[in-house]
Amino acid sequence: MALIVQKFGGTSVGTVERIEKIAEKIQKARASGDDLVIVLSAMSGETNRLIDLAKQISDQPVPRELDVMLSTGEQVTIALLTMALIKRGVPAVSYTGNQVRILTDSAHNKARILQIDDQKIRADLKDGRVVVVAGFQGVDEQGNITTLGRGGSDTTGVALAAALKADECQIYTDVDGVYTTDPRVVPQARRLDKITFEEMLEMASLGSKVLQIRSVEFAGKYNVPLRVLHSFQEGPGTLITIDEEESMEQPIISGIAFNRDEAKLTVRGVPDIPGVAFKILGPVSAANIEVDMIVQNVAHDNTTDFTFTVHRNDYQAAMQVLEKTAQELGAREVSGDIKIAKVSIVGVGMRSHAGVASRMFEALAKETINIQMISTSEIKVSVVIEEKYLELAVRALHTAFELDAPAKSGE
Ligand code: ASP
Ligand code: MG
Repeated sequence: MALIVQKFGGTSVGTVERIEKIAEKIQKARASGDDLVIVLSAMSGETNRLIDLAKQISDQPVPRELDVMLSTGEQVTIALLTMALIKRGVPAVSYTGNQVRILTDSAHNKARILQIDDQKIRADLKDGRVVVVAGFQGVDEQGNITTLGRGGSDTTGVALAAALKADECQIYTDVDGVYTTDPRVVPQARRLDKITFEEMLEMASLGSKVLQIRSVEFAGKYNVPLRVLHSFQEGPGTLITIDEEESMEQPIISGIAFNRDEAKLTVRGVPDIPGVAFKILGPVSAANIEVDMIVQNVAHDNTTDFTFTVHRNDYQAAMQVLEKTAQELGAREVSGDIKIAKVSIVGVGMRSHAGVASRMFEALAKETINIQMISTSEIKVSVVIEEKYLELAVRALHTAFELDAPAKSGE
């Protein structure tokens, strides 16, 4: 008999009919004898609706009061699901974050979980009940209701699984797993049976938005096996684990991530002397703008060119800061480009294989795609290219690294 935490997202509990279906699913899982703790999101759209209401009162709603309100979304779904379970003869009980006592810090709207009291839940499980817990919410030392940030019920699920030392944390959503890349761009994209936490973090931060990143970090830290599954389709989903050993036979690259969220800024002809990188990027970070990739060229006439990327939303602000710095430094010119895209290959297999980057560059060269910037980490190689080549690049790389699903016969 296993202890499983199952988290269902907003679309899975988006209507009463769906909640009834989830109840049926839980009833079946229960029949196999497992202990089940269920974590729910609010109905899809509900959290947005509530935020809208608050914004009608004030542009910047008081964070504490926003949390009092936002926590109601999950309170509705846990009660409805529990009613649906009891109706089916499945003993069940629902708890808000406060009732469990999911203790958080006091950072309203983005609180962090400090501790979970597992006593009540364990007692209910022992008595044969399914325990249904509101995701996304907790309570601070002083008894104020807190919420964990958008998408936070994933983190509730993982934190509960860690606290209860559950055998698995299953995240049920509207996709059937984690894919090698976005199937809308590459129809041959495959569902991965397995991926490591590290790879998932790289994929998630690069735009595969299946799971809240924080929940993956949390699961990695506490080594909670995480599985992403479809709420209404059968299938094994994707297991996210620490286990690199078992994936040794897998391809070197697990997936290809990409985004169009960045913009590039270049300052040319700055003096090639100590402290210049700091002079350029110091004011950028002082303006609270995050920098992603950085390239500094070696130049001949004692000057150098310096290029970096920021989020597209920060492009104008970064440009203003940079123009000012460029003047101070006596730089030759400042330029920028928002029509760029970043493509990354991700895989723990890179650690034990040489030539991965050159294989990437070869595939891009074959398509005559120019690489503007390159950055690497232990398990990732990223390039910046012209935005219009993004889809071509992702497809070419997907094929070059043998990630394409075998063609189905009869198609
Ligand atoms: N309902 C919250 C949100 O929409 C939490 C969640 O769904 O994970 O962000
Ligand atoms: Mg979600």
